[in-house]
Amino acid sequence: MSPQHRLVVDRIKCDGRGLCAELLPELIRLDDWGYPIVNSESVPVHLLPLAQRAVEDCPVLAIALRRSQVKK
Ligand code: SF4
Repeated sequence: MSPQHRLVVDRIKCDGRGLCAELLPELIRLDDWGYPIVNSESVPVHLLPLAQRAVEDCPVLAIALRRSQVKK
């Protein structure tokens, strides 16, 4: 097994400014109201630094990277 990471958004906290989608358009797009729609697949390793930055830069700490063990 190896660690996988997924992005999750707290829809209560999120204020829909869309910064995360600007930082990581490969995995996050915005709906018609500006709220993020996150790709539920595991974050590819090469995108992990950008995903981490999206987590850190969210002004209301509404997005997180969750680690999970996935069988190969
Ligand atoms: S940066 Fe944070 S507050 Fe802004 S849309 Fe993304 S999750 Fe929501």
